[in-house]
Amino acid sequence: MLSTMQDVPLLVSRILRHGMTIHAKSRVVTWTGAEPQRRTYAETGERTAQLAAALRDELGVTEGDRVATLMWNNGEHLEAYFAIPSMGAVLHTLNLRLPPEQLAWIINHAEDKVILVNGSLLPLLAPLLPGLKTVRHIVVVGPGDTSLLDGAEPAVHSYEDLLQGRPTDYDWPELDERSAAAMCYTSGTTGDPKGVVYSHRSIFLHCLQVNTAESMGLTDEDTCLPVVPMFHVNAWGLPHSAFMCGINLLMPDRFLQPAPLAEMIEAERPTYAAAVPTIWQGLLAELEANPRDVSSLQSVTIGGSACPPALMKAFEERHGIKVVQAWGMTETSPLGSVAHPPSGLTPDEAWPYRITQGRFPCLVEARLIGPDGDVKPWDGTSAGELEVRGPWIAGAYYGGPGGAELRPEDKFSPDGWLRTGDVGVITPDGYLTLTDRAKDVIKSGGEWISSVELENQLMGHPAVAEAAVVAVPDEKWGERPLATVVLKEGTTGVGYQELREFLSGRVARWQLPERWALIESVPKTSVGKFDKKVLRRQYAEGALD
Ligand code: ADP
Repeated sequence: MLSTMQDVPLLVSRILRHGMTIHAKSRVVTWTGAEPQRRTYAETGERTAQLAAALRDELGVTEGDRVATLMWNNGEHLEAYFAIPSMGAVLHTLNLRLPPEQLAWIINHAEDKVILVNGSLLPLLAPLLPGLKTVRHIVVVGPGDTSLLDGAEPAVHSYEDLLQGRPTDYDWPELDERSAAAMCYTSGTTGDPKGVVYSHRSIFLHCLQVNTAESMGLTDEDTCLPVVPMFHVNAWGLPHSAFMCGINLLMPDRFLQPAPLAEMIEAERPTYAAAVPTIWQGLLAELEANPRDVSSLQSVTIGGSACPPALMKAFEERHGIKVVQAWGMTETSPLGSVAHPPSGLTPDEAWPYRITQGRFPCLVEARLIGPDGDVKPWDGTSAGELEVRGPWIAGAYYGGPGGAELRPEDKFSPDGWLRTGDVGVITPDGYLTLTDRAKDVIKSGGEWISSVELENQLMGHPAVAEAAVVAVPDEKWGERPLATVVLKEGTTGVGYQELREFLSGRVARWQLPERWALIESVPKTSVGKFDKKVLRRQYAEGALD
């Protein structure tokens, strides 16, 4: 028997309409380095309609066409976020930190028809144009050296000229909620980029979850600073979530360095922010060197890679900012788990929960698969590869596996779960602790050593700014850990011996690294995570014993 309920499709256009009417006065502020650009949700919604009309009437964009953005976090990117999916086209966010040849590969693979590009990024885009096979239009947003596009084959337009004089409402089509709304390629930390295509339905449900108190749970009294880029996994769903609940947005544009971030926090007083750990490490150091009033910030979500507990403590103790860790991936939209402790605990009792990767929300199912394919119990000690499934989790990659070495069965189980490549344990009450990525775990004499555990311990040493641990081949044990360490500026007299002593007592003896390297900085991926592929290549051979 079917229900008697209405079957209303969950569409991005519904979030847009809701935001621009019910929360018409909520604000979108974009940091410009000078006077910030300020718009209301109502104005943003009207410009969104104008953009959709321009794409349809002037550039010939129709349903299913891919429209790419090569843009920073700003008001215009937000307009693209809503206009493109709402009109039935597919928003393809391009990661501006990828190497040029990967970017060109991705644009061709997705068959993008239009690229919206911030003027400041034209030096990145222009050299790619001769190799782009499907792009017909380039739309330049904001100031930039457009002479770089002279002689380009695609037609070149100005964003503001395109919007000028167009109607400020648009008859958004009633689409199939399962149709493609947006796409994002993984950042390639563990191989070639792979395309994930989000549906209207997956974005809508994900966004509802982001807005619960067990996830981010913000309201129209909040101002959210998404430092996490809009080109990577929908900026963790925050732009959509904001329009759903009227959350004010502070967009950092290209000013992602610690000093301007501290300045904009002091000036615009966000209550919440989200970013990967490396950004917060930088901000912490900046605040120590140049104190600023960041007291408006009540909480920050850290995710994208393991958050060192020392970093969480430092923010809380020195600045009164509560740090909440979350886990997710491009393939999971990204919200997978959030580390809010169970209720009723003292701060000391809550701490062991808060340093985990967190609990799964209702619509994310999880299981651990051991090396022999057996499902591991949730007992807090049995480790396995994490597999997940749910309505905002990818079930396949766009256009096939992408990387030549990747077979679909490497990433999806025969019964349709996503193989995350993350290894960890889950407690009986559902808290996930990741011990490693399957590719980063150190397999020493039949035992697993967690590189993340060693890194977290090392980063608890007062002289250590960053530490990354990778596996190196070892004749006797198969693999052993190599610890690469960046010391805080001005540190003298701290060497391997002291760091090793610091670790002993904190980790089991057989896990202590014998090989060490002091380095200037840890190489980072395009989205600011430790790049262990590069580390292995650069340091493993030259390391000291
Ligand atoms: P890529 O896979 O290209 O690096 P993603 O952003 O999709 O791009 O990365 C997802 C991965 O990041 C996860 O599979 C996991 O390994 C890591 N990750 C994300 N959040 C956390 C976290 N809180 N703790 C540990 N690892 C994390």
